[in-house]
Amino acid sequence: MQFRHALDCSTTVRFTMDMRSIQVELQSFGLRLPPYFPARNGGAGPAEGCTIRMAGRALTVPTQSHYVGSSPYSLQTQAGGAVVCREGVAIAEVEIPVRPHFYDETTPQGESFSSIALLHGADCLASTVYQNCVYWETQQACKFCGIGLSFDRGATVLEKDPDMLGSVAVQAAARDGVRHVTLTTGMHSDESYTVGHLARCAQSITAGSGLPVHVQLMPPKDLSLLDELKQAGVATIGFHLETGDPGILESIAPAKSRCGIQRFMDAFMYGVELFGSNQVSSFIIVGLGEDADSIVRIAEKLCRLGVFPYVLPLRPIPGTPLSSLWPPDHRQMIAIYKRIAELLHDYGLSSAASKAGCVRCGACSCMCLFEKET
Ligand code: SF4
Repeated sequence: MQFRHALDCSTTVRFTMDMRSIQVELQSFGLRLPPYFPARNGGAGPAEGCTIRMAGRALTVPTQSHYVGSSPYSLQTQAGGAVVCREGVAIAEVEIPVRPHFYDETTPQGESFSSIALLHGADCLASTVYQNCVYWETQQACKFCGIGLSFDRGATVLEKDPDMLGSVAVQAAARDGVRHVTLTTGMHSDESYTVGHLARCAQSITAGSGLPVHVQLMPPKDLSLLDELKQAGVATIGFHLETGDPGILESIAPAKSRCGIQRFMDAFMYGVELFGSNQVSSFIIVGLGEDADSIVRIAEKLCRLGVFPYVLPLRPIPGTPLSSLWPPDHRQMIAIYKRIAELLHDYGLSSAASKAGCVRCGACSCMCLFEKET
């Protein structure tokens, strides 16, 4: 992603908070934006918000949820740059994203490339290859997920064509510096179709652009289906357990609970065999009600298997059942990041060693800032 240069901000005051704490706070409080600033509020995963570049890295921050209005943080822009202010005082220069060039291209059918894939973080191309889910709008749906929202808004295509995705990846790499790809998907009722579609998309991208591809999906009942992803050239894979607390999993993500924690564990082990240690990951969302010790316990269980626990704060998305919640307290996040960083170090895992996807991108979490310490 190209960013507009930061302001040469002689008005930025000396501020005692370190940049790491500011980034954690930004993800917990959100950032109030000027009205014209681009943001997104749909899609799978932690989708609401915008990306800024701060202290040398891309960071996604909430911008549109109910709690953002009371955040001490605001963005001020002038021609050519921007600063983040805390309680009205400019504290950090930031860069704001420039609209990617590939967004302006269209497929032969007239679909905008931006309806097929988006730029995430600094250099990650991301697409939800099936923008619906067999569980969407049922009692089984994950309560934090907004997968159907962008389709309802007409912002995206329901099912991405592998060839089109391949073309988008080529242009995104050539024109906007994209270096890796994240593919996520809602589930079809036929899991072999879901896996096959992901495999065709990944194959098309790697064949055309050579970019490493990360895929995210529910663990299939038949784990041997994952071989197809490996054969398609997929570099890394994510099965998102979200929490290690079975009660919370049942209330927040009933379909995942019904799938069962054991199937996730089996998929993690199978995935590590196929893709290698550090190339399998799971989101662990802080803020669903799980206490810190339980989060650290499940993270350690994953680390022991060679699975990267991608710990990140809850991002309540407007329009989802969790929209009225608040992200977790920043002090809780810092304490958890520090404990997970020690685990990552002890088990020889690192975000820098991930070949593709959310772990490599890191923009929705501040985990990588704490890793450097250990
Ligand atoms: S961490 Fe994942 S969801 Fe967040 S911006 Fe990066 S690729 Fe997208």
